[in-house]
Amino acid sequence: MIKLVRGFKDILPTETALWQYVEATVRELLEDFGFAELRIPILEKTELFARSIGAGTDIVEKEMYTFTDRKGDSLTLRPEATASVVRAYIEHKFYAKDPVCKLYTIGPMFRRERPQKGRYRQFYQINAEVFGLHDPRADAELILLLMKFMNRLDLSGIVLHINSLGCHKCRPHFKDDLKTFLANRSEQLCSDCLRRRDENPLRIFDCKVPTCKETMTDAPSILDRLCSKCRSHFNTVQDVLKMSHIPYETNHRLVRGLDYYTRTTFEVLAGALGAQDAVAGGGRYDGLVKALGGPDQPGVGFAIGVDRLIELLAGQVQGLEKRSHLFIAALGVRAQDRAFQWVQDFRMQRFRTEMDLEDRSLKSQMRRADKLEASYVLIVGDRELDEGAAVLRNMTTKEQERVPLRGLVGFVVSRIKPTTTGRNNEDRR
Ligand code: ATP
Ligand code: MG
Repeated sequence: MIKLVRGFKDILPTETALWQYVEATVRELLEDFGFAELRIPILEKTELFARSIGAGTDIVEKEMYTFTDRKGDSLTLRPEATASVVRAYIEHKFYAKDPVCKLYTIGPMFRRERPQKGRYRQFYQINAEVFGLHDPRADAELILLLMKFMNRLDLSGIVLHINSLGCHKCRPHFKDDLKTFLANRSEQLCSDCLRRRDENPLRIFDCKVPTCKETMTDAPSILDRLCSKCRSHFNTVQDVLKMSHIPYETNHRLVRGLDYYTRTTFEVLAGALGAQDAVAGGGRYDGLVKALGGPDQPGVGFAIGVDRLIELLAGQVQGLEKRSHLFIAALGVRAQDRAFQWVQDFRMQRFRTEMDLEDRSLKSQMRRADKLEASYVLIVGDRELDEGAAVLRNMTTKEQERVPLRGLVGFVVSRIKPTTTGRNNEDRR
């Protein structure tokens, strides 16, 4: 038997309702915030990621699924979405029409990481990106949107961490501080971090090796090094969060795993997830559009890890409310023919309806209805046809009533109004 590739997974029919619910919820919210959906390919030129994510990052150094196609081009399965969204923003000249542009995209990402709980080689992200806005309120608004989403899903036990990574003016000073700090700590760093120490010491904050983590607890703070513009930017972000009653913690060690960030970075963590506790992360990337050959437009965005979000939700909710539905138990050729038509008519009324096409005994049809967890069963055989009325059984209360065959579909629909509500429609603030 051929099995799944390690680190990949199927999302089963028993799980997809939750995925659909999450996606529908986020789409609605994103569109209310003025975002439009962009669908981008899964495959891009390797150079796009190498140039944007940064050569010294884990992703580019060891996690990309890269191959050479028949013409010799180096292609990569996208490990993240921002680079592709920026490419599209530039390629389709969105900025020419309006530099301010809000885009979102949902889909799979690929990273060849060590598979473990909460870490897959194909995982899903919801991405939101805002271009063309320098104002710190744009950063704050994105965080607000993210927290609003978590709130709508009714997630508890999550914390928001924020930081500022400064800009090309102040960050170099901080890098020097770090290098000085790390100069005589070689034996405490892993080989990757030793290599990164000179080129990109900030990366060391993101290393998952325990000794490196330990070493960095005493590291200097970038927040002490911000220039006045970066400081005021960061202060405004915090002011808006406070005004909006969004609790947060500042975390000067939060650098994120991608090199393109400037100023604001943030992450949403959920303790319940264990070691892989980041549910979402994002930040500002003011130099990226230009670095990829576009105009000098700023950007800020986030990515939500859907797999981890689903895991959290599955642990916190009872499951989605099921749509009620109907099973028609039809006995005999005549009743089967009539039932077949009714089934199609009910479905046209947006009512989930099924029947047994094999004309088995009433007992086995009722068993099937039970198995499908039908909320109602409509029973019809020769006798019901002759009498002009079928029997409608409420499977929860076990009550039965007779329903006229004439105008049957409309009558039944009015009796058993479908409940199509999601888990909670109410927005809890
Ligand atoms: P981590 O620190 O957990 O490796 P990251 O910083 O690499 O996360 P990002 O690149 O910022 O993650 O992606 C945003 C989100 O995507 C993460 O917060 C996480 O929820 C999710 N994510 C990242 N990598 C994986 C993975 N291999 N499997 C499942 N989800 C992932
Ligand atoms: Mg990672």
